[in-house]
Amino acid sequence: MSPNPYAWINESLTTIHRADWYRSVQTIHGRPGAMVIVDGREVINFASNDYLGLAGDDRLIEAGVAATKQFGTGSTGSRLLSGHRELHRELEQAIAQFKQTEDALVFSSGYLANLGAITALVGKRDLILSDEYNHSSLKNGAILSGATVIEYPHCDVTALKNLLNQRQNYRRCLIITDSVFSMDGDLCPLPTLLNLAEEFSCMLLVDEAHATGVMGKTGAGCVEHFGCSGKQLIQVGTLSKALGSLGGYVAGSATLIDFLRNRAPSWIYTTALSPADTAAALAAIKIVQQEPQRRNQLWANVDELKKLLQLPKLKLVQQESPILCFQLPSAAAALEAGKQLKASGIFAPAIRPPTVPTSRIRISVMATHESIHLQKLVKALSSIYIYSD
Ligand code: PMP
Repeated sequence: MSPNPYAWINESLTTIHRADWYRSVQTIHGRPGAMVIVDGREVINFASNDYLGLAGDDRLIEAGVAATKQFGTGSTGSRLLSGHRELHRELEQAIAQFKQTEDALVFSSGYLANLGAITALVGKRDLILSDEYNHSSLKNGAILSGATVIEYPHCDVTALKNLLNQRQNYRRCLIITDSVFSMDGDLCPLPTLLNLAEEFSCMLLVDEAHATGVMGKTGAGCVEHFGCSGKQLIQVGTLSKALGSLGGYVAGSATLIDFLRNRAPSWIYTTALSPADTAAALAAIKIVQQEPQRRNQLWANVDELKKLLQLPKLKLVQQESPILCFQLPSAAAALEAGKQLKASGIFAPAIRPPTVPTSRIRISVMATHESIHLQKLVKALSSIYIYSD
């Protein structure tokens, strides 16, 4: 009898288990918020990307319901076929106005926005220089493009500059980076990246997934935070984090957006974003612009937590965004810490390889957390062993 060609899958799963890398889902019940019920138990939620607490906001829900009643549940086709609605264009114009760019293009997810933009912009004869800590969607977009991909050490602009000396061997060059790094919460050195891009005649693509709604005076992202609005670059992001909906976008020059409408396969060949998600994202952008107090509260919470966390036993990796991260010596230790936190009523996931190079507990702060939530988090963290050098 010939060997079972699927047997390796089981063996591979066993290896994943042995390394403590096995992942499983936890069911969240009810509306998202600062408190959630996970697997039947009420816990304080430090695992959500819903930074402004908008995913459970009545106004987003009502906008989604109204759009569903008016336009139906599905978009029924790709944007170029039968899926385009006036709502999509309204959302794109709102994003462009928010980001101070000429235009924007909405994708069905942030992941697809990165795949679409990168594969449209570069190909076999081109070079991509990518931060080693970039999100999976940037890394996979780079691989899919067929370009030569070189990863530079995390945020190391000297190493990047050295690599840029190879730029002349290629037709086009694209630098890609998260703006707020999703698993570490630190920021890319955007002004230097922009200067290098200009000096070496490279395109620069910045993923603002965790920055949109959070960073900058009006919440427009790290581009605004660093005073770089209006500069020529490609901004990508998601509608699914601080904006509380689903979908992604690219924002930039009118020419870029027109080009992507003609060349980005993950936009051309997929069904348009649903009316409900589109309308909810549109409502969210208006709220972000009209209610700066939400963002102010988020940052007040981050500041309060940082003060509470000044404990010698805790190794806090960075302090520049609402994502805080505690290193642990192994995947098993991270899993155990996550379990103990949950037993203390705190929902904060263990993040392990291969998602990240080193295991950690990742905390994300929300505008809707109350002081008591932050105090309980610190108490729970300090009662478990987190890190010692
Ligand atoms: N980029 C970054 C930096 C992200 O963290 C994520 C989501 N985890 C994405 C892109 C993908 O966005 P979406 O969830 O909308 O596909």
